[in-house]
Amino acid sequence: MSFETKLNDGIFCIPKCDDCKKIVWPPADLCNHCFGNVSLKEGEFEGKIIEFSSKENLYFCLVEFEKTFRIIATILKTPDVGQSVKISKCGIIGGDYFFEVN
Ligand SMILES: [Zn+2]
Repeated sequence: MSFETKLNDGIFCIPKCDDCKKIVWPPADLCNHCFGNVSLKEGEFEGKIIEFSSKENLYFCLVEFEKTFRIIATILKTPDVGQSVKISKCGIIGGDYFFEVN
């Protein structure tokens, strides 16, 4: 199961190396530190809003997870910097990753 297969099914996973336990981001099959095997961890991950901007009534946030990697996500309510969020929706649209948090 690849990260993208899961994402396409609407499941967000964090790719972690089996050997050195580091998060592998951007997602890959092999660890970019030690070339170990990467496993996908499912869960209710909490992220933190680093910054946001708005465009046509939509908010785009930069969200940091596990103090390691950042993604761009949309949010429906007015966000705050430093706010904790969870991924409520995700997928792949037109080849691009899509995330929504709340
Ligand atoms: Zn590793």
